[in-house]
Amino acid sequence: MEVARDCIIHVALSSHQLKGRGPEYLNTSRRSPPLLLVNIEQLLTLRSGHPGPRRGPELGNLEIIQDGAVLCNAGKIVAVGKTKDAVRDGWIRKNKKRLREIDCRDKVVVPGFVDSHTHPAFVAPRLVDFEKRTAGATYEQIAAAGGGIRSSVDGVRKAGKHLLEQKVLSALNSMLSEGTTTVEAKSGYGLSLESELKSLNAIRDAASKWPGTVAPTLLGAHAVPLEFEGNPKDYVELVCEQMIPQAARRKLASFVDIFCDRGAFSEEDSLRVFEAARSNGLPVRAHVSQLARTPLQHLLSFGPVSLDHLDHVDDTDISLLARSSTVATLVPGSNHFLGLGKYPPARKLIGAGVAVALATDYNPGSSPTTSMPFVLSLACTQMKMSPAEVIAAATINGAGALQLQSRKGSIEAGKDADLAIVKVKDYREIAYWMAANLCEAVIANGEFFPSPSFERF
Ligand SMILES: [Zn+2]
Repeated sequence: MEVARDCIIHVALSSHQLKGRGPEYLNTSRRSPPLLLVNIEQLLTLRSGHPGPRRGPELGNLEIIQDGAVLCNAGKIVAVGKTKDAVRDGWIRKNKKRLREIDCRDKVVVPGFVDSHTHPAFVAPRLVDFEKRTAGATYEQIAAAGGGIRSSVDGVRKAGKHLLEQKVLSALNSMLSEGTTTVEAKSGYGLSLESELKSLNAIRDAASKWPGTVAPTLLGAHAVPLEFEGNPKDYVELVCEQMIPQAARRKLASFVDIFCDRGAFSEEDSLRVFEAARSNGLPVRAHVSQLARTPLQHLLSFGPVSLDHLDHVDDTDISLLARSSTVATLVPGSNHFLGLGKYPPARKLIGAGVAVALATDYNPGSSPTTSMPFVLSLACTQMKMSPAEVIAAATINGAGALQLQSRKGSIEAGKDADLAIVKVKDYREIAYWMAANLCEAVIANGEFFPSPSFERF
């Protein structure tokens, strides 16, 4: 299945300042001139003979060009190569005055990160849960006591669309400041027809003010809301008969997601939701095996674009995943924040040939981080992925998890001009410097956003 093109939101920004928790980024021109990046210490192209996600040993192949150069124009990457060839190129010499040249000496350039699993449509942090967890309560104990997902629902239901939009935009800007240029954004804290559609509208409107690309996802089946307590089937009917058709008709969602796990929705509920998504033309994804094993065989028969978390995945499911086109998206930020001390078996998945992606799972309950570099660091230290593998998992494989691999995730002519310029000489430093933001500038759909610390040219 193809992602509905008109649901992938991509907007070239007008000139205004973006505010995030990180450095502030200024869009320096309404219509960006052609951009020529030169003298790049390491240019991580991730180019490959095929556009799909990387598997097995190929995951660590970054196709690095030393002293690289990239030419971008009209939102696209036009040419990729060595600086010495770029400066001799006839077109570049002829158009030198029109170009904006960006000196990337002593810097690494990577494809903009693709954060393929986030929940930005919420109002407030969940500090009571956080404090309870520090006192020893588990995720499920907190949920049973009225905390967890349900405790974010009140705030979202009471919030106006504008406030929600501001919250989403603030998160997107924070992500951009750390090198992320493509984001999947889920609803899932409204849990009523009105509030789920309001959340998706807020995501769409925030995305229209952001220079990167947003893929919106309907996650109506995140939890059973209080008013359906004891009647999960009735709630699933509401999701299938109202939320999915309306989100599809209004082109508010690119995907449908469900939380299929112990204490959440059953396999039967999930198959029902997948069926409704399919009949409304929407591809599916799911949260699985986070709290206990979710059997994947029947879910995989729907060809989900991604199955996420996978802490408790077993060997049978790993071999099914390896033979499927489904991406396994790991979100170690949530394992870290919940203090589980256990992480998904990344090495086993990669060894079996599963396409593995990494994402933040940005959300108020289990992963309040917008930082892909931090997630990459966790993936190296806690899941023993290599510094090269984590880059591919956060770019080209993230793009695969959003069916955007033909446009995003690598630096190749013809792809969208999404790049991050990082203040390091060696790409391995990106995962090495823990919880640091070393992103100096971002190019999102061809628009250049230098951080205040980036040298002026
Ligand atoms: Zn999630």
